[in-house]
Amino acid sequence: STMGRKFFVGGNWKCNGTTEQVKKIVETLNAVEVPSSDVVEVVVSPPYVFLPLVKSLLRPDFQVAAQNCWVKNGGAFTGEVSLAKMSNSSVLGVVTIAKMSNSSVLGHSERRLLLNESNEFVGDKVAYALSKGLKVIACVGETLEQREAGSTMDVVAEQTKAIADRISDWNNVVIAYEPVWAIGTGKVATPAQAQEVHSELRKWLAAKTSNEVAETMRIIYGGSVNGANCKELAGQPDVDGFLVGGASLKPEFIDIINAAT
Ligand code: PGA
Repeated sequence: STMGRKFFVGGNWKCNGTTEQVKKIVETLNAVEVPSSDVVEVVVSPPYVFLPLVKSLLRPDFQVAAQNCWVKNGGAFTGEVSLAKMSNSSVLGVVTIAKMSNSSVLGHSERRLLLNESNEFVGDKVAYALSKGLKVIACVGETLEQREAGSTMDVVAEQTKAIADRISDWNNVVIAYEPVWAIGTGKVATPAQAQEVHSELRKWLAAKTSNEVAETMRIIYGGSVNGANCKELAGQPDVDGFLVGGASLKPEFIDIINAAT
């Protein structure tokens, strides 16, 4: 990372953890010495049910994020969680998981039931969360098929455009570039692959938003980041941090937090 962008490391715990495991992870995080929050911003994102527990136990220099949000304040939306309620319980952010929303398989029942989030819907969520004063980690990224078809940047630009169409203030946004083929696969993007997309995305932001947004935006990488590969990735000029899944549940998350120092 360059340009004085503060390194940002998010731990996306996804749908993992028992109460005991969550307490242990938090204990581990609380006990370690890490660079000050002036140098590295650390956010962990537990499943909804553990948000209050984590918020109450976690060291105050780390932040807590939800993994999703609904786009209204509450009401007749069975099974959804309102950001208004989350912000009341002082949870600071939201991770919108957009990574599966572009697919060559259309209408598959799993996506209808679980992952049917269009670019537009994700854009609505980002705008809504920001309007509620929350921070957002907005995830973008291409599938393997899209990469092989040479459309990586088109896909990422389209996903980002749906957000850009709905917001004007990017101050509370971090963009996570997460190639779908790298997520949970052990197949991490090479530092050159990550750098290429981050740099292209930054150019896109400069063209479509402003130079200031482009220069200050933290663009973080996600997809099979671990303690062993994080240093080299962090050394890329446009890699400003990480969004970490599997390894965020393990002690090596500390090495990832320290990757830039
Ligand atoms: P992973 O997940 O680190 O387990 O690949 C990353 C993510 O989905 O945010």
